[in-house]
Amino acid sequence: MDEREKRAYLRRLPSVEEVLRQLALKDPVSPPPRAVWVDSVRQVLERRRQRILGAGKGEELEETSGNLSEILSEVMAMASWRLRPHLRRVINATGVVLHTNLGRALLSKGALDRLLEVGGHYSNLEYDLENGSRGSRHVHVEGLLCQLTGAEAAMVVNNNAAAVLLALNTLAEGKEVIVSRGELVEIGGSFRLPDVMRKAGAQLTEVGTTNRTHLSDYEGAIRSETALLLKVHASNYRILGFTAEVSLVELAVLARRYGLPVMEDLGSGALVDLSRRGLQKEPLVMESIKAGADLVTFSGDKLLGGPQAGIAVGRREYIGRLKGNPLARAVRVDKFTLAALEATLRSYLDEDEVWEEIPALRMLALTQEELRIRAEELVAQVRERARDRLLVSWEEGYSEAGGGSLPLVEIPTIVLAVSSRFMTAEAMEERLRAHDPPVLGRVKGDRTLLDLRTVLEGELKELADALIHLASEDP
Ligand SMILES: *Cc1c(COP(=O)(O)O)cnc(C)c1O
Repeated sequence: MDEREKRAYLRRLPSVEEVLRQLALKDPVSPPPRAVWVDSVRQVLERRRQRILGAGKGEELEETSGNLSEILSEVMAMASWRLRPHLRRVINATGVVLHTNLGRALLSKGALDRLLEVGGHYSNLEYDLENGSRGSRHVHVEGLLCQLTGAEAAMVVNNNAAAVLLALNTLAEGKEVIVSRGELVEIGGSFRLPDVMRKAGAQLTEVGTTNRTHLSDYEGAIRSETALLLKVHASNYRILGFTAEVSLVELAVLARRYGLPVMEDLGSGALVDLSRRGLQKEPLVMESIKAGADLVTFSGDKLLGGPQAGIAVGRREYIGRLKGNPLARAVRVDKFTLAALEATLRSYLDEDEVWEEIPALRMLALTQEELRIRAEELVAQVRERARDRLLVSWEEGYSEAGGGSLPLVEIPTIVLAVSSRFMTAEAMEERLRAHDPPVLGRVKGDRTLLDLRTVLEGELKELADALIHLASEDP
């Protein structure tokens, strides 16, 4: 293409005003803000201009480069892409139920309803309706938490990291906290117990060895500067082999003898016994209270299956001091969290219903048999419509609880295994990720594995559509 031809092509491009006029004539149902239209038109036209200018000598451009209807649909696609929320839903086919990068726990239907009501209306967040005076935001869930855990008092903050920080600062600022060397955990990179301890102004006293810590180690380290004995749940690792750890009961007895409090950071902390549904048991919050912990902290969005929150339960005296710490204001929980948490906790009042209502528990309890039925249906659908362009089958695999709960426990599951002669598993994974809604799976060898445990029932059709769309794309 020579300069003269290029100029002719450029002249054939419509002006921004012309495209905008045509868009207005199309009269879309809910047009985007004008600024988005204008930006999109400019960008689409500029792209075409660059393509014309960049065309090589012998290169021919398509006749359609100035085609108005093509430009219009390109502009509309770009505008809707720009208006799409940045934080959006994805289909989690990784099999990790509490996936921290994918938002951890999904909320129950009841919790979602409460979010709409409390978010769209005024509420008694800090207002005492009985006395017509200022109230406390803590009261909305404190009673439920005490009832479900057997604790005297409770408080909720932004997340469990904040609960641990607040507790250490309140109980041990300028003093020493004794922790076993086997429990100095790092969770997800940014939460490292020794660092949190330092930021809380407390001094860490490590006792025992990595694999074995005895009661005498704790006792030998107690000094007049000691303020707290701390036990931390090894959320994401296990120490196996020649090991010894001190039970919470023994630690509580020792602490009492020296007039010290004992705290446990449970991490996940379950409110129902998972072993009842064939899963491995995770420590229960009420067991820690019963064993004599003065303070127990855990997350709201791990096994509890609620909103992001940090929950502290324990003796009234210590919870009262936590509430009075000026830091409490900086880590305080918002009304959405309280609304969703209250509904989530209410589900636990019925020990059977809770397995139906809380998505995380429902997913964890799904049997291979139930998953196999879904898998067979999906495989049939995709095979019929994707023909020979995709190889789809189902097989047994393993899911994970995630979120530092049930570490190393492999939960038997059913996965779809997808491969294609036309693309690598990596390319397939990438395309599924670019789909709307994005589908996230795992690559294993030359196949993409999609775990159905974490795919909601209402998403199965979308998953099938994503695969069929994949099969229809050019290699
Ligand atoms: C997950 C975890 C935390 C951090 O909880 P967040 O709610 O993510 O802030 C702290 N301690 C332990 C032991 C954990 O497992």
